[in-house]
Amino acid sequence: MAGGAVTRFAPSPTGPLHLGHAYAALVADARGQMLLRIEDIDRARCKPEWEAAIFEDLRWLGLRWPAPVMRQSDRQAVYAQALAKLEAMGVTYRCACSRGDIRAALSAPQEGAAMIGPDGPVYPGLCRDKGIAAPDAAIRLDMARAMALLGQISFDDSGQDHAGRHLKTAPELIETIGDIALARRDLGTSYHLSVVVDDAAQGITEVTRGADLFEATAIHVVLQRLLGLPTPAYHHHRLIRDDQGKRLAKRDDARALAKYRAEGATPQDIRHILGI
Ligand code: GLU
Repeated sequence: MAGGAVTRFAPSPTGPLHLGHAYAALVADARGQMLLRIEDIDRARCKPEWEAAIFEDLRWLGLRWPAPVMRQSDRQAVYAQALAKLEAMGVTYRCACSRGDIRAALSAPQEGAAMIGPDGPVYPGLCRDKGIAAPDAAIRLDMARAMALLGQISFDDSGQDHAGRHLKTAPELIETIGDIALARRDLGTSYHLSVVVDDAAQGITEVTRGADLFEATAIHVVLQRLLGLPTPAYHHHRLIRDDQGKRLAKRDDARALAKYRAEGATPQDIRHILGI
């Protein structure tokens, strides 16, 4: 632990922790008081065994964190409250589109190449003015309305690839991110909404995470500003890649910490492999 920052490691219990997770956790720990958060909103993909394995792997690495551990599956009511606040501000709308509807709209001949945002192709706005009322529809952020309130947003990053202040204007966010989903029909929330609400609730002052999430940070800052929550500092760190240069994926069990451990590696060996 170093400095006065409060950081977090926020894994999803959908598989074994691999070298990339170990690096993320060690960076969070090195840069501040690391809190742990289990990102398990997607109940269908998360398993208690994987959660237990996360604790075991992190302890083995030599990491410790204060209790209680925040678990997103306990916090549906808090996410619903945040969503209700955004709805009351008039910066959301309900969306009944299936993935197929969106794909069809994007491949219509009059459409140019779809812009790819942090969540995939930028939503073409099909339901924006439909006034859909179905309570079980997905809920999207109306980026144009949100940015009409905010003007522009900014945040600071101290990671090596993105070091500096990042300023995002309304036209840029509308074009490159657009109307992202704030609540999936089946989950009642989304990664973006939950992370923003939870980072504030945990008092996180520096968000450390992989550079693959850099593009999503603008979404999080928009939501912080709309919800009146503080914007933490960001530190997007390098990604750990395999020998072919590919980013490690959850399925990459060959790089699972448990496997290294079973083969006799020590936590010090892991730090060495990670270049720490
Ligand atoms: N839960 C995400 C992951 O497993 C990390 C989220 C974050 O750090 O914002 O990659």
